[in-house]
Amino acid sequence: MAQSVWGYDSDNGPDHWHENYPMAKGDKQSPIEINSKDVQHDSSLGPWHASYDPGAAKTILNNGRTCRVVFDDTFDRSVLRGGPLTGAYRLRQLHLHWGSSDDHGSEHVIDGVKYAAELHMVHWNPKHGNFAGALKQPDGVAVVGIFLKVSGKYSRILQGIDNIKTKGKEAPFQHFDPSILFPKSRDYWTYHGSFTTPPCEECITWILLREPIEVSSDQMAKLRSLSKNGENEPVNPLVDNWRPPQPVKGRVVRSSFK
Ligand SMILES: [Zn+2]
Repeated sequence: MAQSVWGYDSDNGPDHWHENYPMAKGDKQSPIEINSKDVQHDSSLGPWHASYDPGAAKTILNNGRTCRVVFDDTFDRSVLRGGPLTGAYRLRQLHLHWGSSDDHGSEHVIDGVKYAAELHMVHWNPKHGNFAGALKQPDGVAVVGIFLKVSGKYSRILQGIDNIKTKGKEAPFQHFDPSILFPKSRDYWTYHGSFTTPPCEECITWILLREPIEVSSDQMAKLRSLSKNGENEPVNPLVDNWRPPQPVKGRVVRSSFK
């Protein structure tokens, strides 16, 4: 597997990542399967709060592996606080993982249940100076994970996708308040893990929301119509960009709810 070509296919997918990225076989990898019976309720886990500036949204892009929205993180403009976190973490980007059909696509699995997609809102801890520095620290990054469930409803999440059909496309994505993506309930699970994409750095405090948000089947179809190839190449649908659950290795998942 060449350094630059990790992906989700049989020849460069999750089973191969460790060949170039040894951390992918580490002890604190993500995602994991969460089993309710093993979760510990922790009454000391307080509520989390996001304070997002819609003006911080910059662009939406297709990098051939996901669809990502990028935010200005040069100062404490859009931040996440509370819950299991100490201090304010800056929102840097959000992206999605999804399947080839509505019955799978999420990375975390809850009591055997897979959702159609999983949204990751990536924040970093500015006490480490910059994002690259945060990646090297156990408390460097906080990711809010939100499950997407298919129903009749429409969410603004996937607007703008028509502008980034092929790999390498980037389009303005401005005046967007990511807090509209949160479900009603703030209940969450938390554990220490990693990025689910190479190099799979183990720097993440996961805040996984219990309540999924709803999207329409049409919107999921639109996501699956993105291409992992560039503009002048044949269309190659960008689907199944999820990593399967990794060994828990003694980690404890805590919940904010009973
Ligand atoms: Zn992700």
